[in-house]
Amino acid sequence: MEMTSEMDKAAAIVKAARRAVVLGHQFPDGDAIGSVLGLGLMLQDAGYHVQASWAEPFDMPQKYSFLPGSGLLRRPGEVDFSGAIAIALDCANEKRLEELKERALAVPLVNIDHHPDNTGFGAANLTDPLASSTSQIVYSTAGPFGLEISADVATCLYTGLVTDTGRFQFSNVTADTLRIAAGLIDCGVDPHSVYENVYQSDSLNYLRLSGEVLCSSVYEADLGLIYGYVSQADLESFGVRMNETEDLIDNLRTLRGHHIVALFKEQPDGRVRVSLRSRSDVDIGTLARSFGGGGHRVAAGYTSSRNGFGEALDELKDKIIASGWGPDTR
Ligand code: AMP
Ligand code: MN
Ligand code: MN
Repeated sequence: MEMTSEMDKAAAIVKAARRAVVLGHQFPDGDAIGSVLGLGLMLQDAGYHVQASWAEPFDMPQKYSFLPGSGLLRRPGEVDFSGAIAIALDCANEKRLEELKERALAVPLVNIDHHPDNTGFGAANLTDPLASSTSQIVYSTAGPFGLEISADVATCLYTGLVTDTGRFQFSNVTADTLRIAAGLIDCGVDPHSVYENVYQSDSLNYLRLSGEVLCSSVYEADLGLIYGYVSQADLESFGVRMNETEDLIDNLRTLRGHHIVALFKEQPDGRVRVSLRSRSDVDIGTLARSFGGGGHRVAAGYTSSRNGFGEALDELKDKIIASGWGPDTR
């Protein structure tokens, strides 16, 4: 990690600019949204013209709609990059920007991310695979970039920390993570209010859908694999949006003795998005990359090239078996 010289390069790019476009990955989670809005607000407070965006489908999950900074949001097609720098947040590679990619790569781009497979696609790259979250790295940029962390900024960044660390319980948590969380609380975050907004805001429809997905989940003991499936028909019959299902995989993850969790999510176009989680004994980041996706050792995802749940499941199981993972390697 050559963060220091990269930090100098990033600070030079940011300080030379007056306009910034802050971008998260498609289907943003709490860390992508928290880091985008947190950095966006910090820049706006310092007088920058700021636009924030991510790829279509461009909508804000309900549970993050309490976050300040929504005034910065622009649909991807409406973002004006002229005279601006771009800052990509929580994106392991430029493809995660989808339709924003070409315009972002045409201006000075700062890449801030914590995925171990980050491709270093920026003119400056603040990448740290040991950081719990991208929001944690953004916190460390305030000093070098000459920016202030207001209570609103802190609320966004704290939300990124909380959601990417499983409320400070995943293996990516260090003493530093907790020190930074404490620093953010000192800046004015109300942790209980973040908890209520993020974790006590499910709709009754969502609870019922999650019951259905848990009831129909399957555990394959020989692979240590538990999986579930969310179809478009389920979403429609329960009245739930796909972006409400981000945490559903965590329910499957509580199963005693499991090694791999897979949640298959049917997209409107029929393709299947696969979310994966593991205990640290299985590197599902590598598995996801072999399908053209990516992620961390214990949290990763990809979109299957096969149509339909059954096909996507078979494809995944074949790859797990071919990797040698099985009863005798456990
Ligand atoms: P998710 O299951 O969507 O919450 O994603 C888990 C992790 O894998 C996150 O760190 C994502 O950024 C990453 N990830 C998910 N899908 C992809 C993809 N198609 N390409 C690269 N990384 C991904
Ligand atoms: Mn993310
Ligand atoms: Mn993240």
